[in-house]
Amino acid sequence: MNSLSKTIKCMIALTLFAVLTAGCSSTPTGRKQLTLKSDAELAQEGTRQMAAIRATSALVQDRATIDYVACVADAIVGTLDGEAAALYWELAIVNQPDVNAFVMPGGKIVVKSGILSVAENQHQLAAVLGHEVAHVTAHHANERATRGELAGYGIDVLSIILAGDSNNRYSRNYDPNRARGISGATNTFGALGLLNPFSRMQETEADDIGLIYMAKAGFDPRESVSLWQNMNSSEKTAKVPEFLSTHPSGETRIDAMVDRLPEALALYNQAKAEGREPNCKP
Ligand SMILES: [Zn+2]
Repeated sequence: MNSLSKTIKCMIALTLFAVLTAGCSSTPTGRKQLTLKSDAELAQEGTRQMAAIRATSALVQDRATIDYVACVADAIVGTLDGEAAALYWELAIVNQPDVNAFVMPGGKIVVKSGILSVAENQHQLAAVLGHEVAHVTAHHANERATRGELAGYGIDVLSIILAGDSNNRYSRNYDPNRARGISGATNTFGALGLLNPFSRMQETEADDIGLIYMAKAGFDPRESVSLWQNMNSSEKTAKVPEFLSTHPSGETRIDAMVDRLPEALALYNQAKAEGREPNCKP
């Protein structure tokens, strides 16, 4: 057996080992997922990153703005139960014009103040925060790290097949330029072919779950559609072709949300009937 096929067999064995030792969990939508990492370790990393953001970013100091965003976040987190409710949820509002928000494992939510110019009311802000909270409750960071690791093995195998001996630094046939070219091409293939559609699937799932959270908290789910219309017309949100981006395009998102509105509206009406009518004011 030559050394190339040995290497490929070894990579395949490693991949199989990783899959076999991976944990299984499921998202709030019931989708089964592979999770190699420990949620507790990822949460610790989230806590570290949040501390670094607090220490190095210009945070919004205006009390009214902080209270407004916290009021919406509290209402969304208040709908959670089990492990997700027991997390130490934290919020930081960074003074930056980007229309963006993100979340780190363990429930650390970062909102950039630019989003407040696009989310016009508490319901639209709830659509943003519901989506971010959903990424945490659906273990998306763990799943992405797992997927990245497995894709890494796959990309290594592909690079070896394409480049043969030429990307083995210790081989007589080593060709650094060829090795670099192959490695760049296979990484791009990995990002476009494997990881981006996967990220878009997670984004769609976070939209689905987030819509349910906002409705359960008593925010009007129809406003999520208005939020995405605002996003689409905002000059601040860059337009990236959907296949290159990790997020579904605005139009795709709006169509999917309209489809799910009947279920969300039923939960919203139930929340109102039970007296959950948040009154968060900017
Ligand atoms: Zn997202």
